[in-house]
Amino acid sequence: MSALLNPPQREAIHYLDGPLLVLAGAGSGKTRVITFKIAHLIREGGISARNIAAITFTNKAAREMMERAAKLLSSEEIRGLTVSTFHSLGMQILRQEAPHLGYKPQFSILDAYDAGKIISDILKSTAKDEVRRVQSQISLWKNDFKTPDQVLLDASNEWESVCARTYLSYQATLAAYQAVDFDDLIRLPVELFERFPEVLGKWQNKLRYLLLDEYQDTNTCQYRLVKLLTGVRGMFTAVGDDDQSIYAWRGANMENLRLLQQDFPKLKIIKLEQNYRSTVRILRAANSVIANNPKLFEKQLWSELGLGEPIHVVQCKDEEHEAEAVVQRLLAHKFECRTDFKDYAILYRGNYQARIFEQALRTHKVPYQMAGGQSFFDKPEIKDVLSYMRLITNPDDDPAFIRALTTPKRGVGAVTLEKLGAWAGQRQVSLFAAAHETGFQSQVQAAQLEPLTQFCAFIDALKMRALREGAGALILEMLAAIGYEAWLYDSEDSPRAAENKWKNVLELAAWLTRKGDEDNKNLIELTQTIALITMLEGRDEGEVDAVKMSTLHASKGLEYPHVFLVGCEEGILPHSESVDNGMVEEERRLMYVGITRAQRSLTLSYCVKRKRAGEWQFVDPSRFISEIGEGDLRHFGRPGAEPLVSKQEGKSRLANLSALLDAKKRD
Ligand code: ATP
Ligand code: MG
Repeated sequence: MSALLNPPQREAIHYLDGPLLVLAGAGSGKTRVITFKIAHLIREGGISARNIAAITFTNKAAREMMERAAKLLSSEEIRGLTVSTFHSLGMQILRQEAPHLGYKPQFSILDAYDAGKIISDILKSTAKDEVRRVQSQISLWKNDFKTPDQVLLDASNEWESVCARTYLSYQATLAAYQAVDFDDLIRLPVELFERFPEVLGKWQNKLRYLLLDEYQDTNTCQYRLVKLLTGVRGMFTAVGDDDQSIYAWRGANMENLRLLQQDFPKLKIIKLEQNYRSTVRILRAANSVIANNPKLFEKQLWSELGLGEPIHVVQCKDEEHEAEAVVQRLLAHKFECRTDFKDYAILYRGNYQARIFEQALRTHKVPYQMAGGQSFFDKPEIKDVLSYMRLITNPDDDPAFIRALTTPKRGVGAVTLEKLGAWAGQRQVSLFAAAHETGFQSQVQAAQLEPLTQFCAFIDALKMRALREGAGALILEMLAAIGYEAWLYDSEDSPRAAENKWKNVLELAAWLTRKGDEDNKNLIELTQTIALITMLEGRDEGEVDAVKMSTLHASKGLEYPHVFLVGCEEGILPHSESVDNGMVEEERRLMYVGITRAQRSLTLSYCVKRKRAGEWQFVDPSRFISEIGEGDLRHFGRPGAEPLVSKQEGKSRLANLSALLDAKKRD
């Protein structure tokens, strides 16, 4: 096993004397250290798998790490190992300890959309921008472990007061719904451990060794959780790269790297300097871009993978031209190098940039997979079904109650709903509980009450069965009972749209059956699992031969042989908002993350003009391109540089290529 590691990596894996930080640049094998260390701890360190927890940044990364660890160990040795995100670990802790904090173990987990809706109701505002700003302020406070009372006292201007008051009502609403949001999944375990030392002791005893990937993007709350869990013994290995900290907007705090040294004076730091991912030119480009940021820690990075191709910089007329040029170059490259579609990634700063590339890929019949786009679980029809699952799990989940009760409509009138809401508010109970109270029932006519009572009985009956029966089959039976398919055909504009939605719902049912069998989970456990599948990832579609499309943020930790980093323009990367707010350094780190995803080739593209708010504007290429040494660049499409294939020529060349590719496939 050790033969697959270089000396500092080996040292990191063998070090068990105390807290350890592996601080190193991209592609230097930090994640590999964690995977191998899991195996080392179990095999040589005498620590049982069930006493080890490895924390990754996404569920997908967790799955991959588990698969890799499984290759190094026997199924016996690996039993009981925890590999999860901070959020799943928090959920696991809360599920077991919820009653200490006055929650039921079947609490609901609200996603950002539902949380936003609650905030918009409190603010009595539908202005998306305002809601978003208040929501992210509340989230930052929660991650900094500030209570509503504290921030109310500290508020120094009207805006902060508004946010603070909203925060107070928001927390009260969550408590009434028996619901937690994503921030609570970390915050509440911290609160739990601080208030109940015996509970903390139990978990410290269980999780004796922690391994933390992407440590630079932990926030204050997550760090506090780590400190509590590891206690004074500080048995952990954290790996990270300060140059890849790109989640400040979600509360990530790079200072945590420095704090680690302060809080654990015995902290050992190991640096890794060999990059095993990229060619010399790609690495040199990354190093020279990031050299423009002030340094937190001194780091070197070198590669033995050869000089490699220069980085292609492609100037395009406008965004349509850019999408066409990227897809053409990708196809030509694929043909020349006999690669697969899955060897390519198209990376961009914002999700909105994806659409035009999707169109071009579709036009040229190139298969692609989106990461970080609209998640499967965010589709309206899936959220419809999920609202039932959430309600079955926790009848006090009011947003789920409203959605399920009105999808499809059941003849419960608006007046009845208003009365129900008022009664629930007065009595401080959930809508579901209010519907059962005689005080409310006496206010409503029998004909109006009937469908509501029936609905509650329907949910109750499903709840009884949810613990015992397979989730997939139960959901299908439930959908048949409410006539969901027919309702889709009635409410959608076209039968085609209804059919697609129904297909998605069937896919969800199949997923529930499969997941339920694989992980031996019932409907209630599956509902809580789904709530954790964040926007970052979407559903795992497995390895297929398709071009990967991803935001830069979602590409963290991943690698691809050939990368197209598109929209390298001032205003996009760096993003204009960040430039205005003095956050260029974070944008530069994002560029660094993007460049270092590439193994063998990298293409940067930009447009000279772009439509903004309906108007054509001339834009400048990103400053980050000029931070790369000219000697490592090869320009296309700009005056005096190599031409891009013109559209017409391109099309015929492409037609030839496609014909050749088809012929090759037939062979
Ligand atoms: P990032 O900062 O992007 O998260 P990282 O430091 O976590 O990168 P890894 O993803 O662990 O780096 O490793 C990068 C690549 O180098 C992987 O393909 C990995 O398998 C390979 N690699 C790492 N260490 C070695 C080694 N000692 N020998 C051969 N290959 C290695
Ligand atoms: Mg990594």
